[in-house]
Amino acid sequence: MLLKVFVIVLSISQVYSVPKRKSYSDLKSCNLGPLAKEIASYDTVVRSILDYVRGPFKGKTYAELAKFVDKFGARPSGSDTLEQSIDYLVQLTRDENIKDIVTEEVKVPHWVRGKEQFTLLKPRVKNINGLGFGSSIGTPPEGITAEVIVVSSFDEFSNISEHDVKGKIVVFDPKFVEYSVTNIYRTTAASVAAKKGAVATLVRSITPFSINSPHTGQQSYEENVVKIPTAAITVEDADLMRRMFERGEKIEVQIQMSATTNDDKISRNTLIDLKGTERPEKLVIVSGHVDSWDVGQGAMDNGGGVFISWAVPVILQRLNLRPKRTIRSIFWTAEEPGLIGATAYEAKHRNESHNIDFIMESDEGTFAPLGLVVTGTQEARCIIAEVLKLFESINASTLVESDSPSSDINVIVDTGVPGAGLYNANDRYYWFHHTEGDTMNVEDPDELDLGAAMWTAAAYVIADISVDIPRAQDKAKRS
Ligand SMILES: [Zn+2]
Repeated sequence: MLLKVFVIVLSISQVYSVPKRKSYSDLKSCNLGPLAKEIASYDTVVRSILDYVRGPFKGKTYAELAKFVDKFGARPSGSDTLEQSIDYLVQLTRDENIKDIVTEEVKVPHWVRGKEQFTLLKPRVKNINGLGFGSSIGTPPEGITAEVIVVSSFDEFSNISEHDVKGKIVVFDPKFVEYSVTNIYRTTAASVAAKKGAVATLVRSITPFSINSPHTGQQSYEENVVKIPTAAITVEDADLMRRMFERGEKIEVQIQMSATTNDDKISRNTLIDLKGTERPEKLVIVSGHVDSWDVGQGAMDNGGGVFISWAVPVILQRLNLRPKRTIRSIFWTAEEPGLIGATAYEAKHRNESHNIDFIMESDEGTFAPLGLVVTGTQEARCIIAEVLKLFESINASTLVESDSPSSDINVIVDTGVPGAGLYNANDRYYWFHHTEGDTMNVEDPDELDLGAAMWTAAAYVIADISVDIPRAQDKAKRS
């Protein structure tokens, strides 16, 4: 009996990949002196924010997110819907009597999926659930029909001769290890296979769990390599073709994709400022990205992140709380096609980047908050760890360390700015990621309340304390 339980526990932890992040034991040696006392004194204001979100603001973050998601649905880069949803967010914020809002124009890609059909023809006829990857070219109208080879890894593929690849569709069937590790197959498979003469690639969806839904995402072609169509297939269909292939059965697939890459469009980053009372030039940034994939509703990725970041200035304004530094809430545009909005922001604001005290983004789910994923010096981490102690009552005091705390802001933390992502109970995040399953049903009102409260209070304390968050000595890691 005991043994059985043990085995089950083991297999669950393998499936639900625990993030490989370090919790810093060296934080035990933090010695902040009087600053620790100063940070502890924010307990009252943190409690008032928590009480407000559990009281008059209860359910508001979820309700506003639902209104937004239900009204606009998917908001892909280059679409009119994305621009309309940005206008809506600006107006929604103005309605809260917050006037300091600007949008900054950004040129963004405009890829359109079009119609897609994937069919297994041999050894038997079966529909395959597939989704082309962002930036993939389409097929000729009649489609591409070819024999399939199934390969588990790039290593294995490197040992297969050009003769065995030429003219074929390569199915990459890598087992899910961790998103950041396994997604290399999504992003690069097409060019890897095209170099040996493959005519298309199909990639097992990057997910630890599946009910036969394909997961899309961005891919990129290498320069000077023939472009071939590339798409995600479900875990189930990839594994099916793997079994057929291992039995020596001849597999034939037809792929029809009418994807097009159109001229770039103009989109916008949205900046909402709650001006600081003493050092308004200094910024504590909270953020999320407005755009989503064209499948699903973008409720989780990243409506939740946008709405807890929208809640920060709204809650502080309603409570008449103004920190010493400015709090800037940013809604990035065009994250999905490759951090386009954040990259444009970094370039445009580079000469004032020394004014960013701390930058935060929530783009890995807004499930129950657990703490923050922090990048910064030991001293910076000590200060943030002390701030996180204020969230013990809601079990959100954990500090985990990562060099890349969250998608968009990685562009800015790479220049030496300390920052954090929302650490949350997101074990199921990649189940829904970039699928039709990314809907409001993934979101929970109480978890969004906790996330909004914690996000707001953490930003407030960091923006108000007497010291700046220290930076690394070599400020610009980027050359
Ligand atoms: Zn995202």
